[in-house]
Amino acid sequence: MGYAIAEAAIEAGHEVVLISGPVDVDRPRGVAVIPVSTSDEMFEAVRRHTSRCDILVMCAAVADYRPATVYKSKIKKRGENISLELVPTRDILASLPKDRAYLVVGFAAETENLESNARKKLQEKNCDVIVANDARIGMESDENDVAILFRDGETKRISRAPKTIISRDLVNIFENYSEKRLTKKIM
Ligand code: C5P
Repeated sequence: MGYAIAEAAIEAGHEVVLISGPVDVDRPRGVAVIPVSTSDEMFEAVRRHTSRCDILVMCAAVADYRPATVYKSKIKKRGENISLELVPTRDILASLPKDRAYLVVGFAAETENLESNARKKLQEKNCDVIVANDARIGMESDENDVAILFRDGETKRISRAPKTIISRDLVNIFENYSEKRLTKKIM
């Protein structure tokens, strides 16, 4: 979905920086790609690039946990069970500054109570907009079906369609909301 949105944003005439983990998707033409391989690298890259952005779209499926210890060399087989200690990663979205100038769009992939879970996430992670999708439709698929929830309580829906089409509508919706926010029609 991130790559489709980046492509739609380029088509709409925006300058796009795509901070991406390792994926097997062709990079869209005209997009500056910043490759990262860990959640900490993504955290730092987001911090570096938000100073001059108008809209931040966070749709990476960031890992919730990482190994507590990373070994430089191979762990030797010892013929017994081993346990890996996992520690929570930093939540990039939730740790963005509250007094930011740019619009923040989060994503929520849910399997049940889609809109109520997404609205809870919008509040907890202090997003301006959250795009909710059913994880069973949108993951590993070229299609999606989304609900767009706004901080002011409004909701829009885009029914099942190819991600390329949904992304064009989303870019349009984000532009309009960002514009409204800048003209102080909403907070
Ligand atoms: O809590 P959940 O993973 O469902 O939240 C999804 C949203 O939070 C997405 O916008 C995702 O990019 C963001 N996220 C993040 N940092 C994390 C985990 C998720 O920014 N460590």
